[in-house]
Amino acid sequence: QLQTQKQLFGHPIGLYILFFTEMWERFSYYGMRALLVLYMTTSTLGTDPRGIGLGWSEENALELYGWYTMLVYVLSIPGGMIADKLLGQKKSVLVGALILCAGHGVLAIEDLWAFYTGLGLVVLGVGMLKPNISTMVGGLYAPGDIRRDKGFSVFYIGINLGSLLATLLVGFIVAEWGWHAGFAMAGVAMLLGLVVYLAGYKHLKYVGNLDKSDTEASDEVSYGRLYSDLFKSPKHLVITFVLVVVSIIGWFFLEWGYGLLFLFLTAIIALMMMIYKELNSQVYKDRFVVLLLSFIMVIIFWGAFEQAGGLMNLYTDSKTDRDLFGWTVPTMMFQSLNAGFIIIFATVVANIWAKRKLKGKEASSIFKMATGIIIMGFGFLFMVFAAMQFEKSGSSSMIWLVLAYFFHTIGELCLSPVALSFITKLAPVKYASLMMGVYFAATGLGSKVAGIVGESASDFGEYSVFLGILIFTIVIGLIFILLTKPLKRLTHGAEDNERKFQ
Ligand code: GLN
Repeated sequence: QLQTQKQLFGHPIGLYILFFTEMWERFSYYGMRALLVLYMTTSTLGTDPRGIGLGWSEENALELYGWYTMLVYVLSIPGGMIADKLLGQKKSVLVGALILCAGHGVLAIEDLWAFYTGLGLVVLGVGMLKPNISTMVGGLYAPGDIRRDKGFSVFYIGINLGSLLATLLVGFIVAEWGWHAGFAMAGVAMLLGLVVYLAGYKHLKYVGNLDKSDTEASDEVSYGRLYSDLFKSPKHLVITFVLVVVSIIGWFFLEWGYGLLFLFLTAIIALMMMIYKELNSQVYKDRFVVLLLSFIMVIIFWGAFEQAGGLMNLYTDSKTDRDLFGWTVPTMMFQSLNAGFIIIFATVVANIWAKRKLKGKEASSIFKMATGIIIMGFGFLFMVFAAMQFEKSGSSSMIWLVLAYFFHTIGELCLSPVALSFITKLAPVKYASLMMGVYFAATGLGSKVAGIVGESASDFGEYSVFLGILIFTIVIGLIFILLTKPLKRLTHGAEDNERKFQ
């Protein structure tokens, strides 16, 4: 059936539908994200030309921002579960898009209740849409189709096109018409996404449908049964019990929020253990383990990469000489570098890997992801240079940031689209959306880690933090490169014999 899909520029037409839907969704997400902290910290007095803000302290605003950006991805897990069990991915994306339109619409209303309600809806909407639309991209390609990785790179360009346009535009809109016009802009973008999706629905006939016929696990997905199986397995029950105790200790010693987070993680770990147990052949079990191990790389990668919006952003603002021929480059503009570099280099990186693979050289996903961590980590060398220059002369050059963001982006291209594609190759079909959800939750966890690491700069200084990240990431990357062969063996040929289909 997949072979009968209409093609355009060498890919199924459905890819372009998903591309533009996700482009608008990310436009609304990143556009809103760009103004969120600024809106929260703007005073309530109306002295700011952009309008009345919430008047919060920076600390409170950053805290809410941290939880928000994490939750948005963590909710991908229930989003994935609903798709696997109830709706299928295609309908879940539709529901997510509708919730997002409502959420951004509510945010355009000037009131505190609307602010919280809107954010809550956006979290739910992204949770329903993001993992499921990503899984659908994989569904466009037959197993073993070499175009799959490239398809994800194209899709990734859509993501960043949305992000780039939104971050460039939102500043102007807010400056001209105020905060709520910015929120409304996000709403309109999401509406366009919904229209594109509905208009292209007919091209998505064979993807994202609820699939009940499946050979990898015995019967229908039942999370209730998986959790109740826990009680039949003493070993797993003990592990879960220990984790619950750790969570409760965390609750008392840290904050209730962290306690809740740990409990949530415990639930996920328990679920992963039970799914593993349920898979009915060693091949699927091994693949599942490789997938979970690759998520370690994912957390570490985003834990370092996400310094971009936090510590590196503040560094740009206060310690970098942003003078360009007499014009001061606005700090926010540095945030567009990543998306810009992605759009330029996504296909270049994808082609390099594809060529290597066709020549029979090592280019498994694990290898690419490990290389991605090393390249991204190497980018921190330039931040180390920047910090050294600052310590010497009281200001550092912009060029370090540009170089750092360049390497971060190339690293991201080796890891992120590859990981998305990898999940669709390795996850048991029945749990495909759930595993995509777990992936996004891992990236959300990484962002939270990034915040914690970034905060530590006020104790240790930027130089030590950047150097620490540089060394840590490169070491982890090298360890995974060494593990490439054994891990690849455990995938039992999931990535071998990839060839051209048409
Ligand atoms: N920037 C990418 C996106 O928005 C990746 C984000 C992530 O995986 N956490 O899709």
